Amino acid sequence: MHPYFKIDEKLKRLAAEAEEKAQPYFKCIEETTRYNQQKMLAAFSSAGVSESHFAESTGYGYGDRGRDILDKVYAYAFGAEDALVRHNFVSGTHALTVALFGILRPGDKFISLTGTPYDTIHSVIGIKKASGSLEEFGVSYEEVPLAAFGKPDTEAISKIDFSKYKIAYIQRSRGYSLRPSLFCDEIEELANIVKKSSPSCIVMVDNCYGEFVEKTEPTSHGADLMAGSLIKNPGGGIAKTGGYIAGREELVERCAYRLTTPGTGREIGATLGHSREMFMGAFHAPHVVGEALKTAVFASALFEMLGFECTPRFTEPRTDIIEAILLGGAEKLIAFCRGIQRGAPVDSFVTPEPADMPGYDSQVVMAAGAFTLGASIELSADAPIREPYTAFLQGGLNYHSGRTGVLLAAQSLLEKGFLDEERLSV
Ligand SMILES: *Cc1c(COP(=O)(O)O)cnc(C)c1O
Repeated sequence: MHPYFKIDEKLKRLAAEAEEKAQPYFKCIEETTRYNQQKMLAAFSSAGVSESHFAESTGYGYGDRGRDILDKVYAYAFGAEDALVRHNFVSGTHALTVALFGILRPGDKFISLTGTPYDTIHSVIGIKKASGSLEEFGVSYEEVPLAAFGKPDTEAISKIDFSKYKIAYIQRSRGYSLRPSLFCDEIEELANIVKKSSPSCIVMVDNCYGEFVEKTEPTSHGADLMAGSLIKNPGGGIAKTGGYIAGREELVERCAYRLTTPGTGREIGATLGHSREMFMGAFHAPHVVGEALKTAVFASALFEMLGFECTPRFTEPRTDIIEAILLGGAEKLIAFCRGIQRGAPVDSFVTPEPADMPGYDSQVVMAAGAFTLGASIELSADAPIREPYTAFLQGGLNYHSGRTGVLLAAQSLLEKGFLDEERLSV
């Protein structure tokens, strides 16, 4: 350990043990990373990416070859017919919003199969009042609540007549809740139920935090359309902003008409010099996701040994990069986030404090010392100050620094007297 970081000797020994226990799971992650990295290389090669594609366009951005080729790279890597990848998507929520508005029309109904969606989507749907919501445009929404253990209620879903709905919506990742995330084959099972009832009902997936965790994406498992953020997994920690929509060509096309204008669609949109970073981010994404996953596995192994409940457990298979650590107290959450912040390359001297956040009914404490503001593919932690006092940890551009951040979080808890001495001594 570099002398700059002061870690308790007992904690270091425990960390070495945790890492040893994690080895077989690291091996699995590395195997998937290798495959996905090859897939990405194949995507670049088959799309014929060339240095000239990094050139910037301005104004309307007519005839920007790089923009079109980048779409092809992602479509290939996602196993999708088509993709729309743009820095103009301001967030993952924006990409999901464009997809919903691109497909749904007044009088249409859509239904969520995975309970209430992620917080920021509430105002898009209109379950939280907001100007310009789908509800205002005459689109109605229903949801099937999650069943026991946070799993989709397949029994209830099997009884639905999907011909009444334009979209069946599935959220892959737990987001910041304690339900388990959905694996691609579970998504396929749901898509099969929908299609059996009505082949024309569009299966749409919120794929945030899931990209490149498995060897295939929901679009290879019956999803017609999916969307996500480039400052999470698929931007590889390099894309400065942006999002994507991928899926069936005809649907992606409709979304492009919503992103820009009916008529112009994907033919316009200046890349302003972002292309090189977006290509590089795509190229790095499978590897960076592997590093984030190893960081999460290490964190869960260590914190389980320290006596905290972690989900997923370090032995469990994963379909997203989020690790939930049940710390069991407000002061512990604060100490944890302060430790993670100390392990950041940027703003490591900042002390996180709980604060009110728009969209949350409790205060939230966050650790985020990132090159890209709000990037959660970089090591970060979010913790709403409420029962069951859980820290959501994600990201890590490389395992070595991610591991250091996790150790500093444990050290911070130790310094506040929140670690069980007996567990440290074994
Ligand atoms: C991050 C996330 C989103 C989109 O969030 P943005 O902050 O707008 O990028 C949507 N759904 C889930 C499950 C997410 O994790």
